[in-house]
Amino acid sequence: MSWDFETDPEYQKELDWAEKFVREEVEPLDYVLGHPYDVRDPVRNKLVRPLQAEVKKRKLWACHLGPELGGQGYGQVKLALLNEILGGSRFAPIVFGCQAPDSGNAEILAHYGTPEQRKRFLQPLLDNEIVSAFSMTEPQGGADPKVFTTKAELKGDNWVINGHKWFSSNAHLSSFLIVMAVTDPDADPYKRMSMFIVPTETPGVNILRNLGVGTHEREGSHAYIHYDNAMVPKDHMLGPRGGAFVVAQTRLGGGRIHHAMRTIGQVRRAFDMMCERVLSRTTQGELLAKKQMVQEKIADSWMEIEQFRLLVLRTAWKIDRYKDYLKVRKDIAAVKALMPKVFHDVAARALHLHGSLGATGEMPFVEQVIQSFHMGLADGPTEVHKVTLARQVLREYKGTTDLFPSQHIPKLREAALKKYADVIEREVHAQS
Ligand SMILES: Cc1cc2nc3c(=O)[nH]c(=O)nc-3n(C[C@H](O)[C@H](O)[C@H](O)COP(=O)(O)OP(=O)(O)OC[C@H]3O[C@@H](n4cnc5c(N)ncnc54)[C@H](O)[C@@H]3O)c2cc1C
Repeated sequence: MSWDFETDPEYQKELDWAEKFVREEVEPLDYVLGHPYDVRDPVRNKLVRPLQAEVKKRKLWACHLGPELGGQGYGQVKLALLNEILGGSRFAPIVFGCQAPDSGNAEILAHYGTPEQRKRFLQPLLDNEIVSAFSMTEPQGGADPKVFTTKAELKGDNWVINGHKWFSSNAHLSSFLIVMAVTDPDADPYKRMSMFIVPTETPGVNILRNLGVGTHEREGSHAYIHYDNAMVPKDHMLGPRGGAFVVAQTRLGGGRIHHAMRTIGQVRRAFDMMCERVLSRTTQGELLAKKQMVQEKIADSWMEIEQFRLLVLRTAWKIDRYKDYLKVRKDIAAVKALMPKVFHDVAARALHLHGSLGATGEMPFVEQVIQSFHMGLADGPTEVHKVTLARQVLREYKGTTDLFPSQHIPKLREAALKKYADVIEREVHAQS
């Protein structure tokens, strides 16, 4: 029997180090540098590389990976506790080598890549010498991959890719894209597509424009791409032919829970700022913190964050225990569906309690609220995850053919009377 809510003291020391390091060394970069993923920016590299080296020395680099890939094999619970710290800073995930989408792309390269693919694409990705992008969503639909039309045709020894993809985040900074394309149009709907590794410099990979999210993003980083006869050698298929759905699921299971872990960090930041503000600002002769409607916002936010955090940690624990994402599908769907709501509600309250200042670009709340919508869309919209959750939950139940529910009280009373008839009858006789 073990239900333990304590972090082991040795690892807590690492977390304390990470907290201080992120606050003092990494967070300042958020305010002075451009894109964290821009490995071609010499100033970024000058500042980020030494910090990455420190993290490696401390053995906290790429903690989402097993030791065979240069990670620590810490498992998801330890990762969750670390990611909570990293989530509050734009640069922290890259400094600790666990940024999305590279983390998920590395997972599928490790899982499905041939030795040549791993050598050429995985190793430099793990070392953050390069970054990658995931190119799945198309303008006509993202939530339902069955509507994708981008196709790859085998011509001689090459695959030729044609079609449009969009929201391929960071494609303009990437060295390669992982592209999902139709290879077998007449096959079963879930076996029509395959995954490809496409070097971004391939002729025919045309970035039409980079979309920006919300009002805050300095410049757009979500690429709208036209694959126009983009040709890659035959051996650039990743995983089996027709296996794109399975490959995508491998990356998404981990990706979703990792987003949730980092989101806890972001939400906590908003909450901390909210608490500081209400203890600092006076209106009508008293602190905001003294007003009951403000107290309600603090209480609601605290409860929502703690509930969410416990669900994330328990899901992480289940992943460690079962080592099988399919067994935790329900939990991951719940985490994914809850994440945008908690993030949105807490960030919106923090914005509101900061008054007009909260609505400006001088505080992070507007960006956080927009990001909460991002969390509700990327890796599948909330509705889809709620459907998954409900279906999984309902598998654990069965209906009744009786006219009345199995818990109908008259029925239960009748059964109970039957079960204890002897004793009850004896007692009734004794009392009469
Ligand atoms: C900031 C950001 C970064 C992203 N990065 C990437 C990336 O790197 N690579 C990539 O490939 N994609 C990326 N995406 C795209 C993302 O995965 C898609 O936006 C998402 O899958 C939804 O697809 P869609 O936008 O086409 O919406 P649609 O599929 O058109 O869905 C629109 C809305 O319809 C509703 N809906 C959809 N399905 C259902 C359903 N079954 N039941 C009820 N309602 C439903 C939901 O409200 C949904 O939001 C990113 C998106 C954002 C916002």
